[in-house]
Amino acid sequence: MTLRVRKGDKVAIIAGKDLGAEGRVLEVLPRKRKVIVEGVSRATRHEKIRMNQRGGQEGGISHKEAAIDISNVALVCPTDGPTRAGYRIDGSGAKARICKKCGTEL
Ligand SMILES: [Zn+2]
Repeated sequence: MTLRVRKGDKVAIIAGKDLGAEGRVLEVLPRKRKVIVEGVSRATRHEKIRMNQRGGQEGGISHKEAAIDISNVALVCPTDGPTRAGYRIDGSGAKARICKKCGTEL
């Protein structure tokens, strides 16, 4: 099965605790069937502040986007919002990704 989400796509979260959030795909993890979406599902980590060898500080609070199951995201169509994506083969045999509702190329 092909993954219908690519890096740089705008997606909406359609299930889970981040339901309704939208963002761009920063990374696709095909083997885990997960995606990392900009600004979504950020895990806040509190790390112990410590001194490094150069005398600077390390640690504190860091934000990291967490991976989201690919089945919990949907591509966003400019007309319909979150939608299902399909494929259409054009005249030259090239595969275009389209919105299943309105047929717009995504
Ligand atoms: Zn559409």
